[in-house]
Amino acid sequence: MIRLYENNDECCACGACLNVCPKNAISMKENKYGFLFPEIDSKLCIDCHMCKKVCAFQNITETNIPLSTWAAVSKDKERLKNSASGGIFYTLANEVIRQGGCAVGAAFDDGFNVRHIIADDAESLRKLQGSKYTQSNTGHIYREIKKRLKNNEMILFSGCPCQVAGLKAFLGKEYDNLITVDLICHGVPSNASFKDYLKVLENKKNVSIKDFSFRDKKYGWGENGTAFTSHGKRIKALYYSSSYIYYFLQGFINRDNCCKCKYAGSNRPGDITIGDFWGIEREHPEYIGKSGIDISSGVSVIIANTRKGLDTVEKYRGVLELYESSFEKASHENEQLNHPIEDKPERKEILELYAESGWEAVDKRFNKNIGLKRYRGYITSMLPAKFKMKLKKLLR
Ligand SMILES: Cc1cc2nc3c(=O)[nH]c(=O)nc-3n(C[C@H](O)[C@H](O)[C@H](O)COP(=O)(O)OP(=O)(O)OC[C@H]3O[C@@H](n4cnc5c(N)ncnc54)[C@H](O)[C@@H]3O)c2cc1C
Repeated sequence: MIRLYENNDECCACGACLNVCPKNAISMKENKYGFLFPEIDSKLCIDCHMCKKVCAFQNITETNIPLSTWAAVSKDKERLKNSASGGIFYTLANEVIRQGGCAVGAAFDDGFNVRHIIADDAESLRKLQGSKYTQSNTGHIYREIKKRLKNNEMILFSGCPCQVAGLKAFLGKEYDNLITVDLICHGVPSNASFKDYLKVLENKKNVSIKDFSFRDKKYGWGENGTAFTSHGKRIKALYYSSSYIYYFLQGFINRDNCCKCKYAGSNRPGDITIGDFWGIEREHPEYIGKSGIDISSGVSVIIANTRKGLDTVEKYRGVLELYESSFEKASHENEQLNHPIEDKPERKEILELYAESGWEAVDKRFNKNIGLKRYRGYITSMLPAKFKMKLKKLLR
């Protein structure tokens, strides 16, 4: 019987094995922490070992090196508001769709399940906008992508680096009509833990939550979450007030493999890498100001890792504000361009607590430990974004 992985930290659940299986013998199952893992049905398996061969996480070493790096912001200021950083994904994807292609990325469904979907028009593209800080299930999307590539359709695929590497391993060859975009990634918690967190929040506040933004720009550029209730109320989910956001940012609820992510550096699988340009005000003060970047609306980093990545940025230069930078500057304050998130003992402790007693117990632990720190979060969140930036500058 084939063993897809020996230890849990050897599987990232990219889904390449599930997509390649000629007998549909593989399905994704949740473990006790809610993380997805592929499982083989021994009655259907024909021992062809295709699943082992496409495991990029275990078998493939990335050799791309950064060719060019920019600080970047979308010229479409309206779309920028709903994007996580500088709106680069949406802007590039919109161009590909306008030219008859499609974009692939992560979207919420009505039950807050996060799945990779294909967007063929502006309406469905909006669902891909914004970061969802929980693992997206790629399902059988790689098969659909292959069909469309063979039909000569232009595709822009976005995802965590392990998902980009998974897609490429599944395809097994280069396609001129595929552009891959990997996100700088802090690591992923399970989708199950996020949904349980929302249920606990609904019960605590006695509301029904209909939408959730992990990066609500109403409070500026940063990790400002907001839950939107069915009665139009906003509930802030900030670092110091939300158990999920706090534990996500600390890396305490990530999958095992995220702590040894081989893509958290300069060798990236995508044609292009995008993320936040944290620390732009210190790395490039010359770009900030009235005629340059408005930092409160979000700033991205774009890294071209391949010739195709360079050509893509060049082709869509007209819809982006691009500012020359370097990998060194972009990675200075962006930890996950240097190394994976550190594995701390609290991660195992919190995941065990969740598996045994559910998110309510995790939430109680958070409330007990956070103490007075939470008030700092509330006060900071009430200050206008521009004022916060000025204050930060002054304090430095
Ligand atoms: C789990 C996660 C961790 C991240 N960690 C970091 C980090 O440590 N440092 C950093 O600089 N940037 C990080 N990012 C990237 C950042 O949050 C933005 O997604 C990125 O800068 C793109 O912003 P944008 O404005 O161009 O994209 P938008 O126009 O807002 O589009 C969002 C993009 O993110 C994709 N996406 C959203 N959720 C998921 C998901 N769960 N899985 C896969 N793809 C998803 C969408 O498909 C789309 O491509 C992370 C993103 C995710 C999803």
